[in-house]
Amino acid sequence: MSEKSFNAFKMAQQQFDNTADKLGLDQATRDLLRTPLREYSFSIPVRMDDGSVKVFRGFRVQHNDSRGPCKGGIRFHPLETLDTVRALAMWMTWKCSVVDIPLGGGKGGVICDPHHLSEREQEGICRGWIRQISYNIGPFQDVPAPDVMTSGQHMLWMLDEYEKIHQGKYPGMITGKPVGVGGSLGRTEATGYGVIYTVREALKDLGLDIKKSRASFQGFGNVSQYAIRLFVEYGGTPVCVSCWDQEDQTSYSFRKTDGFDIDELLEITDRFGGINKEKAKSLGYEVLPGDAWLEQEAEILVPAALENQITGENVSKIKPSVKLISEGANGPTTPEADNYLKEKGIYIVPDFLANAGGVTCSYFEQVQCNMNYFWTKQEVLHNLDTKMTSAYRAVADLAKKQNIYMRDAAYMISVQRVAESCRIRGWV
Ligand code: GLU
Repeated sequence: MSEKSFNAFKMAQQQFDNTADKLGLDQATRDLLRTPLREYSFSIPVRMDDGSVKVFRGFRVQHNDSRGPCKGGIRFHPLETLDTVRALAMWMTWKCSVVDIPLGGGKGGVICDPHHLSEREQEGICRGWIRQISYNIGPFQDVPAPDVMTSGQHMLWMLDEYEKIHQGKYPGMITGKPVGVGGSLGRTEATGYGVIYTVREALKDLGLDIKKSRASFQGFGNVSQYAIRLFVEYGGTPVCVSCWDQEDQTSYSFRKTDGFDIDELLEITDRFGGINKEKAKSLGYEVLPGDAWLEQEAEILVPAALENQITGENVSKIKPSVKLISEGANGPTTPEADNYLKEKGIYIVPDFLANAGGVTCSYFEQVQCNMNYFWTKQEVLHNLDTKMTSAYRAVADLAKKQNIYMRDAAYMISVQRVAESCRIRGWV
């Protein structure tokens, strides 16, 4: 695939096709799983602060619900496309399957840039999104959650609109809600912590000491921030982190080779994860180009921004010191770069395993909402660690047993489970 014509959905289909070949899936199962079950694309008219009306484009894709209701986040991004949402919905199906939770895969999005929208305008988009799709989602159909540039506040506006339409209380219709209004303790930390639970296990398999490990992170949003926190708690050294600079419309990397302090960085970070360059320099950070996070002397790389980041063009810049890549983002590595990593023998924890902590905690949130009994943070994180560790173990064991790449092993386990549930339901 040419890197220039990168299309996340084509990449997701290619990954699926390779797995279908390995598993010897029949044609009907392939046809069913390589495209989404249902797709919605709609207009969301919003009254802006200046009195004008702006029409935004919204999407929801339900890839597969044979193992349970569809599940997946809603992204707000200016470059969102139906194809990206399709890819992400498919990856959600594999993600829920690899951690063995009773949910399918879905994803949503809105083409918009929250950097340029007031709180009130964002509320308008959230409520409008729900009004367009409120009869096609719900606690037993499809359950949204936060994702890139959406938060608990967005989820609560959506829940509120849904409850107005359906005249009742339905806390299980959406997850990632704020604590106190149906949210789970630990949900904010879950994705980032989950990434590091898998890093901890992978380092054990590689015979590396986390206390002697350095890591470089791409992105400084929710996933990356909590991943860095737990990595430091385990004794690791974060040496570099990159983030998007809204003003310059490019990204920068911030480096301190003897390790940086996340709290110090957070003090100079805006609510979208943008780090102030001048203030960082005065605190002793080297400010480097956006790609520099990839070229660091470190044992671990954690891409935790967007898809299509480690490509055929930059993958060879990865230093020989790098032994492990744990993909906090969805689809950060293109197939061309992936082949290179495979050849070089760099150990990877693939995206839909590494970042499954968020949706696993969302599942716990649903369970707590159904029981109307909320767990302590310690219980949530303990159960999350158990789920993530056993999912990692199953994938790593299969990879070792069959001498296959970690991504291939994760795909084989996930797709097999979904294909089987379609089969025993009598769909194929
Ligand atoms: N947006 C997160 C993901 O991509 C979480 C989804 C969820 O909690 O449903 O995994």
